[in-house]
Amino acid sequence: MAKKVFKSILSVAVLVLLVTTFFIVNEMYRSFTNSQLEVLRGQARVIAYGINKDGLSFIDQLDDAEYRITIINDKGQVIYDNIDSDINTMDNHLDRKEVIEAFSQGYGSSIRQSSTLTERYIYTAMKLSDGNVVRLASTYPSVFHFLTIIAEPLLLLILLIILVSFYMAYKLANRIVEPLNRIDTDVPEQIPYNEIRPIMEKLSAQKKMIENDKETLRRNRQEFETITANMSEGLVLLNDEMIVIDINRSAKEILDIDEELIGKKISEISSYEKLASLLNDGLLGHRSTRKVILNGKRYDAEVSPVEMDKQVIGIVLFLFDDSYKEASEEMRKEFASNVSHELKTPLQTISGYSELLKNGFVKAEDQDEFADKIYLESQRMMKLIEDVIKLSHLDNEELQIHRELIDLNELCKEAVEMMKDNSEKIRISYEGEAVQVYGNRELIESIVFNLVENAIRYNVEGGKVDVKVCSDADNAILEVKDTGIGIDPADHERIYERFYRVDKGRSKNTGGTGLGLSIVKHACILNNASIRLESALGEGSTFRVLFPKA
Ligand code: ADP
Repeated sequence: MAKKVFKSILSVAVLVLLVTTFFIVNEMYRSFTNSQLEVLRGQARVIAYGINKDGLSFIDQLDDAEYRITIINDKGQVIYDNIDSDINTMDNHLDRKEVIEAFSQGYGSSIRQSSTLTERYIYTAMKLSDGNVVRLASTYPSVFHFLTIIAEPLLLLILLIILVSFYMAYKLANRIVEPLNRIDTDVPEQIPYNEIRPIMEKLSAQKKMIENDKETLRRNRQEFETITANMSEGLVLLNDEMIVIDINRSAKEILDIDEELIGKKISEISSYEKLASLLNDGLLGHRSTRKVILNGKRYDAEVSPVEMDKQVIGIVLFLFDDSYKEASEEMRKEFASNVSHELKTPLQTISGYSELLKNGFVKAEDQDEFADKIYLESQRMMKLIEDVIKLSHLDNEELQIHRELIDLNELCKEAVEMMKDNSEKIRISYEGEAVQVYGNRELIESIVFNLVENAIRYNVEGGKVDVKVCSDADNAILEVKDTGIGIDPADHERIYERFYRVDKGRSKNTGGTGLGLSIVKHACILNNASIRLESALGEGSTFRVLFPKA
């Protein structure tokens, strides 16, 4: 901008200089011509006076007259010429402007261009008392000659003025532009030129708007990135030239890509062939799904076109892990086969014993024992069915549980009191403090029952169980501590699995189903509680359940 201003100022200055020079030179030449004319007129007057007084002899008295002196009679004939003596051959002068004027007005003058470009002729004529006209002729420099005479000082002057203009233009341009460079659009009130204040205010408002928009875009982008980065599904956004616009972490893992792919063609990835026809479907505007195997794992790949004004401008590729479906299907099958296996044993016992009884193969004194066996096995079956039903109920993803404020201390105290009645060999103690939790009563009861039941079941003779309810800053804590057989740390993770038992025989003999701790784990999750275990073989076990305080 400074350059532009500088150039403009300089061009204006040079133009003004040239125009001014032209007029000044013109004026100088005009006044030079006038002064020449005045001088010649004065001379003409003197010579006319002399002739009138002394006749032609006056001219002869003039030594080396600087002018050509010609005397013309009223017929236009030259009767005297101080330069050319052959006056008879000379043209009639009655058509000359200065002569005509002198005859009619007493005085005349004219200027004519000479045959050379460097000179001009200047004439003045005076009427004499005898009726003739005396004419003085002289030369003076033409305008070109005049220019060459004054060229040197003139050019020097022009150069000097140009240099000064150059310097002034430079200074002026900087002075104009410098405040503009210091303009802060955030404070339009401090703008140095009133003329640009409105536009600056507009710019400032627009800048603020753009900054707000940028901030909103940044936040949206961040939200989008946070969401997509934490998605377990793979997500790839492509434009209509199959160039990757965005790709999330999961997609990179699924497609086994380490390097940056944004801005590159999707065809560069090694698994492109497997997705090519699906992506082409998307480009043609079709929504479509395929099963693909990527790095040995099965995925559901889904492509959706992104359209604007009925034109496909991009596509979205989703990659869903299919293997978890297989795993849960596998778990479901395993659970079903475990349940039928668990049911088969008591059923076989019941059916065998009752057949013996029915066919009268059991002696009268053994009949009570058989009936007890049948009762016990049917109890075990009922417990198993009850637990399976409870677990499948808790498994239901759409399960809505009722929550209420519960005094954990009261609830646990009552449950332990009930359990005390069923346990003669193991001493159960309870201590607690009042602490409230917000949860489902039935589920919390099942946590207490299962943990205390296990503490009794896997205890040693003469052992004891201590149940405690306490709290810390954030949690209400249920602690069930036993002096039992303990659990090897290697089994700590697995004991919550369905039908996992560390000691199968002991569990079955004591009426265990292998589902108790699975139910406890589910009930904890549904009550936002966590469960921890401290135990080692032969050293008893302590289960702690941490409920968030209400
Ligand atoms: P079960 O009906 O067999 O008790 P659970 O799911 O309640 O089934 O427990 C799983 C297994 O964890 C039990 O079979 C047992 O081996 C072990 N276990 C659970 N609680 C205790 C405990 N307090 N002491 C020792 N072992 C335990």
